[in-house]
Amino acid sequence: MIPEKPYQKSPSGGDSFQPSNPPPAPGDESGLVPADLLDDILAAFSDYGILVLDAEGCILYANSGAQAIYGYPKSELFGRSARDILETPSLAETEHLEDLLTQSNESGRLEFDLPQERKTGEVFPARVRFHPCHRQTGATIVLISELETQVGIEQLKRDFLSLVSHELRTPLTSIKGASSMLHTGALGELSPEQQRFLGIIDRNCERLNHLIASLLDLTRLEAGRLRLRRASVNVDKLLREAERHVGEQYASKQIELQHVESPEPVHVHADPARLEQVLLSLLDNAFKFTPNEGRVRTAITATEKEVVIEVSDSGIGIPAEEQGRIFEKFYQVDFSLTRAAGGAGLGLYMARRLIKAHRGRIWVKSAPGQGSSFCVALPRMPS
Ligand code: ADP
Repeated sequence: MIPEKPYQKSPSGGDSFQPSNPPPAPGDESGLVPADLLDDILAAFSDYGILVLDAEGCILYANSGAQAIYGYPKSELFGRSARDILETPSLAETEHLEDLLTQSNESGRLEFDLPQERKTGEVFPARVRFHPCHRQTGATIVLISELETQVGIEQLKRDFLSLVSHELRTPLTSIKGASSMLHTGALGELSPEQQRFLGIIDRNCERLNHLIASLLDLTRLEAGRLRLRRASVNVDKLLREAERHVGEQYASKQIELQHVESPEPVHVHADPARLEQVLLSLLDNAFKFTPNEGRVRTAITATEKEVVIEVSDSGIGIPAEEQGRIFEKFYQVDFSLTRAAGGAGLGLYMARRLIKAHRGRIWVKSAPGQGSSFCVALPRMPS
């Protein structure tokens, strides 16, 4: 609530506003509002997040509403790039915030509905408004309001996905059990033809299992229930482990897998299972979108601060206009092609969310017909 006049003292302890000051004469705009009082005024809008950004997009100020909405304490917001907070998977990877700041400077104001992400990983629908406010310094005010009406629908969607995924697991376990029983030969010797059909059942069970696991992961992530269990991870070892997993699959299409080792062991502070999941998604995509007898190359490079893992393939490539979108939830470039290859358009979305949770970045370089190269950069752990 806005404090009643005369203003006494801000709860934050400031006392720059003197109640004894004579009230300004009507029309007198010379008296600036003292900083403490401004703080209280902005705190009063606790249903709205208010960020003030400098010309480079660094956060100069965040009101208590912004801290509550995003779930970051003040100390983690101030001085941080607003890209970390405002950027969402539905937008392109590069220059996004800078573009918005330029556009809002040109048009005087910019407003759009964009899902936002709390520190817990929970995604919520929001309206974000940019107001350029100080021409000389290029400062911009960003107003964030949660779109309440959709909160219930989002929750419903998550609950539905979670329920369906759990319910699908039970019959799938029975199918797998029955198939294993047939494999043992306890119910009679199988002809080659029967074995071939059983193989189809097994492969499709595996595919369904993978899909259900992805959906459950997604609902956990969006409800903020996906926890990272971080440890020191040797990146070379983890990448080799992931490559071992796909070895047989690659051999089936005679795809050559080259591993370029890093000159020295490099470590990151990461959840090994989640990082392996990301690498497997990239290796799996490289496999799916590379024709027989193609080539996939993995490499690790490191600077003092960062480790970059690259998975590049000689596959079909991705058109430039699709490259920003492939990290969106359920997005697939060519539905018919990817449907045949298996997948639900969740691999890269999950990869991006997981890498972001590790304070890293993921991006793609690609051209149609010339293959794709996916890079994951993570902060390096001092050895
Ligand atoms: P899916 O599991 O359906 O493959 P992803 O999120 O992993 O979903 O990928 C999204 C889309 O991006 C894919 O459907 C495909 O169109 C495109 N894509 C991803 N990786 C590659 C790649 N290595 N080469 C070509 N296209 C790719």
